[in-house]
Amino acid sequence: MTQDITTRILHADRLAAVEHGAVLKPLHIATAYGYATAEELTAVFQGQRSGHIYGRQGNPTTAALETKISLMEDAVGTVCFATGMAAICSSLLALLKKGDHVVASRFLFGNTASWMNTLTQLGCEVSLVDATDAANVAAALRPQTRMVFVETIANPRTQVADLAGIGTLCAEHGLLYVVDSTMTTPHLFQPKSVGASLVVHSLSKSICGHGNALGGSVSDTGRFDWDRYPNLLPAYRKGPATGWGLLQIRKKGLRDIGATLSAEHGHRIAAGAETLALRMDRACANTLALAQWLEAQPLVARVHYPGLASHPQHARSRALFRNFGALLSFESVPGIDPFEVLNALQLVIKASHLGDNRTLALPVARTIFWEMGAEQRASMEIADSLIRVSVGIEARDDLLADFAQAFSRLSVKRPA
Ligand SMILES: *Cc1c(COP(=O)(O)O)cnc(C)c1O
Repeated sequence: MTQDITTRILHADRLAAVEHGAVLKPLHIATAYGYATAEELTAVFQGQRSGHIYGRQGNPTTAALETKISLMEDAVGTVCFATGMAAICSSLLALLKKGDHVVASRFLFGNTASWMNTLTQLGCEVSLVDATDAANVAAALRPQTRMVFVETIANPRTQVADLAGIGTLCAEHGLLYVVDSTMTTPHLFQPKSVGASLVVHSLSKSICGHGNALGGSVSDTGRFDWDRYPNLLPAYRKGPATGWGLLQIRKKGLRDIGATLSAEHGHRIAAGAETLALRMDRACANTLALAQWLEAQPLVARVHYPGLASHPQHARSRALFRNFGALLSFESVPGIDPFEVLNALQLVIKASHLGDNRTLALPVARTIFWEMGAEQRASMEIADSLIRVSVGIEARDDLLADFAQAFSRLSVKRPA
């Protein structure tokens, strides 16, 4: 019986037999794990027996969270990291080597884009393409291409990748297909359904939701044939091939690099994940209401939200996702200063971060996309007036009332 993800994760700890019949996995804060005999310790080291060795490679609390993320993604396994960036950076370092080529979306999350740039300094080549059309990905493929990396819904402009088309392409070419599904979460979309090999999440965002923990994860959907992947070390080609990729990610990406998720943060993320579906439903409904309200404002030039019929990938989003996400962005008409808009908001917090229970907003061009400069902003279609809103779970009417009072106080400034 395939259960709903909320039902599955609510009972996951209990079904794994927690000590004393506790219904939640406790916090395991030990650094070391002891064994009665040298033989047992050795068996764990050599992978003949499962068990924990040292806290850098994980702990039972984090392992319980990994089980839940695997349940949510219908994955064969998951490795957690200290942050979403740690998950991305460590996994790619574990799987790529000098001379490899990666095709990635050119609308990537800013820090991931910056990391792709670092990869080129380490001897990999990266082609950034408009991934809203799989034909652009196909055109960029080379004999050395190892991996295609895309996000489901881009932040902040909400372009939706051609997820199914790229899945087909990757299957045809035997390529590793990595999908960052942070913006959709497992409640809206399972990348496995379009053939993703690995699914990445920033757990710091909607999966945790409460803005009180950082974390990241990478899950293996079981769709990729690791036997065909040339960069796996012989030591990790043991047992069934389904486990090889994650084993190398755990050993090279977690054990050697050490960006480990702490038990405390893993515990808070697991608690947040229990209400993911409830929170996402409400946040998505709020976001659609706000997007529609903004689209009707004369002082707003454009609203970017996949739930609007005006969005270029609206039909694709409707076909693939349960709902359209909790992030929108909008551009004001000339003469409206985005700072004035933001400063007029009273409930909405001026802050970075997204997927929080609270609604957060920021001026994109002068904050998260400032470092890259005007030229790259233009190539990524980031207007100077763009405001990003990560919509929370406040009551819809309170949220709309805050925007209404803010817009009622704006004045169009004509150039002198
Ligand atoms: C935030 C984010 C990340 C990075 O996650 P952190 O937990 O902040 O390191 C990666 N990808 C996407 C799409 C994100 O929104």
